[in-house]
Amino acid sequence: MATEPRLHVDTDLKAGGEIALEKDQAHYLRNVMRLGHGATLKLFNGRDGEWRAAIDHVSKSRVDVALLDQVRAQAEEPDLWLLFAPIKGKRVDTIAEKAGELGASEIRPVLTERTVVGRVNTERLAANAREAAEQCERLTLPTVHEPQKLETVIAAWPEDRQLLFADERANAAPIAEALAQCCPGGRWAVLIGPEGGFSPSEQQMIRALPQSVPVSLGPRLLRADTAAFAALALWQAHLGDWRNGDGGFE
Ligand code: SAH
Repeated sequence: MATEPRLHVDTDLKAGGEIALEKDQAHYLRNVMRLGHGATLKLFNGRDGEWRAAIDHVSKSRVDVALLDQVRAQAEEPDLWLLFAPIKGKRVDTIAEKAGELGASEIRPVLTERTVVGRVNTERLAANAREAAEQCERLTLPTVHEPQKLETVIAAWPEDRQLLFADERANAAPIAEALAQCCPGGRWAVLIGPEGGFSPSEQQMIRALPQSVPVSLGPRLLRADTAAFAALALWQAHLGDWRNGDGGFE
C-alpha cells in the first residue's frame, strides 16, 4: 500500500517489540494522517531491515506501535559520499533531499575559498535527508556531517576512497567515459564546487590527490545542485545500485 506511512526510528526492531514513537512522528500519524488503533505502518532503523508495525495505543501525547514482522532484510547499500560547497537558500535543503533519494551514504558540506555561505543548518539538512529516505524506501539514512574545510578534508582523504571530482575547467574526461574505466562498487565520493567554482589552487590540490578522478559534466555550466544530482545519478547508473534494476515497487 503506497499510502502506508514509513518512518525511521533509532530503536532496535525485533519480533514482539513495542515502540513509543517520537513526539513529531506521533503527531504526524495521529493528526496529519489521522490514523488510529490497528492502522499499519512501516519502520526501519538502518540496521534491522524494514518492519511492519501496527498502532496499538494512541493518546493525546503518544502513539505506541507493536512490531509485526520483517518485510525486508537489511541489505548492503552503495558507499558514496557527497561533498559539496554549501549554497544559499532552499537549494541546499534540496541537495540533502535529492542526495537521500539518490542513495548518498554521507552528506559532507565542505568550505572552499569561494564558499559564500558561512553557516550550514545541518539539523535541517538531516531532516530533509531523513524525510527523503523515508519516502523513497531506502533502508538507511545518509549521515550528515558538520562542515569542514576543503583543505582539511583533502589532507585526511582515505586511501581507499576514490574522489569523483566535478571539474568544470579544462580537460577533464567525460564522466561516462571515466566511470566506464572503473569497477562497480567500492568506496567513492562526489565533489562539487561552489557557485563561484574552485580556485585554481584548490583545483590543483584536488587533482594532485591520487584517488581523484576529475570529470566533466558536459558543455554547459551547471548550477552546483544540478551538478550534484547529475554526478550522483551517473555514478549510481555506472557503478552503483541502479545497475541492479528496480526495487519491484507496486
Ligand atoms: N566556475 C563557475 C561555476 C561553478 S558551477 C563559474 O564560472 O562561476 C558549481 C560546480 O558545479 C563546479 O565547481 C563543478 O564542481 C560543478 N560543475 C558545474 N558544471 C560542470 C561541468 N560542466 N562539468 C563539471 N563540473 C561542473
